[in-house]
Amino acid sequence: MKNETRTETFRVPVENVSHLTLKVDGLNKRARRLNLTPLRIEIVGSETVKRVTSLPPFVKYTSEVKLIEIVGESPVLAGHELIARLTPAEDCEGENFVRTVPGKSCPVEYRTVDMKTCDHCKTRRVRKDTFVLLHTESGKHTVVGRNCISDYLGHASPEALLAGAEFLFEADSFGSESESDYYGSGDRNFEYHSPIELFTAMTAIFIRRFGWTPRSKADERNSATADGVWRHLLPVANKSARRDKEDFARKNNLTVTDDDLEVATKALDWARNNADGNDYIYNLRLACTPETVSRKTIGLVASVISAYNRNVEKLVELHARKIDDANCVHIGEVGVRAVFEGCTVRGTRNFESDYGVTTLVTLSTPAGNIVKWWASGDKTEDFPVGDTVTITGTVKAHDEYKGRKETLVNRCKMGVSGKAKPVVEAADPALAPA
Ligand SMILES: [Zn+2]
Repeated sequence: MKNETRTETFRVPVENVSHLTLKVDGLNKRARRLNLTPLRIEIVGSETVKRVTSLPPFVKYTSEVKLIEIVGESPVLAGHELIARLTPAEDCEGENFVRTVPGKSCPVEYRTVDMKTCDHCKTRRVRKDTFVLLHTESGKHTVVGRNCISDYLGHASPEALLAGAEFLFEADSFGSESESDYYGSGDRNFEYHSPIELFTAMTAIFIRRFGWTPRSKADERNSATADGVWRHLLPVANKSARRDKEDFARKNNLTVTDDDLEVATKALDWARNNADGNDYIYNLRLACTPETVSRKTIGLVASVISAYNRNVEKLVELHARKIDDANCVHIGEVGVRAVFEGCTVRGTRNFESDYGVTTLVTLSTPAGNIVKWWASGDKTEDFPVGDTVTITGTVKAHDEYKGRKETLVNRCKMGVSGKAKPVVEAADPALAPA
């Protein structure tokens, strides 16, 4: 049996890709049992498209459409290729449904060919299925009834030919179904994926309208924001369920503003590019990086809006309190323990050595002086950038870095500890201890 390769290309919304892959995997399991060549599925390109949700609040968003190739082989038996299957269109006398094998084309005269004919046995009888075959060498088409295929192809098993064609028919309908917005809504194994921009913008709208409820604060009366948004986005084929969603959106005046969309885009960008941070920030980056979100990560992804807003506030505040390098002075007394109250975390940097991780914590005092602590272990979680902290530590040295006076501390504890006194900062730098 010599086979012919054929390729079909589909334009699949990014949220449908994983389900299509799952379906093709399922087909391939069957292909192996039938000894057919498995299909190859490949993303060959992608396009950014503008889309609008199918339900109110009609969110406009941009998302990806993947160009997906499904490459299969159509079997050739005894020099014949299967071109199409014909079934009578009962309501249109004398006309036939033509199901063409993907990648092939069936001559138009077979649309109205008499279904009672069979080029092989030449007997006339009612047939439910006939097949259009192509003799590859002569280029001649024939129409043969299902029961005659075996005879016609010289007793070769018609099953492989039919199974192979069925296989391609199925792959083809999986491909075209996956191009739809409502793909999979009736399928038990379907796992919905939402384009991440859409999910995030919708989260911004829900927060604006209902406030933010993290999963940890959710109960019977207040469902978590992530779950509410998810339920609203899940595509439903059922008409009354669709109406319920529309009513809900209308009643709650879920209108989208450009700000929602902008915040969503910026929040995702921020999460994707956040290299430093604690485990939460790290996990957030992983959850926000893919183009789609599935049920597994909605809690994290939904939290990106409030995390981003908190961060923006912090950064704005931080920016407003710029360090004036030239006016920085040394504070405290070398060798003496002191309390450094109300310091702002300017940054944390981790360094790895043979002795383990060290974190350089940089703080600025309320008067704008710099305090640095080389802490052992990873301290990024204890010192989120922009947070205000109080530490107690021993002044180790009065140092200078790039022309700026800095106070180095060690043996630090969070908060006020022991008998240490708050460090005195001169209001006027000129009065500061030398
Ligand atoms: Zn026949």
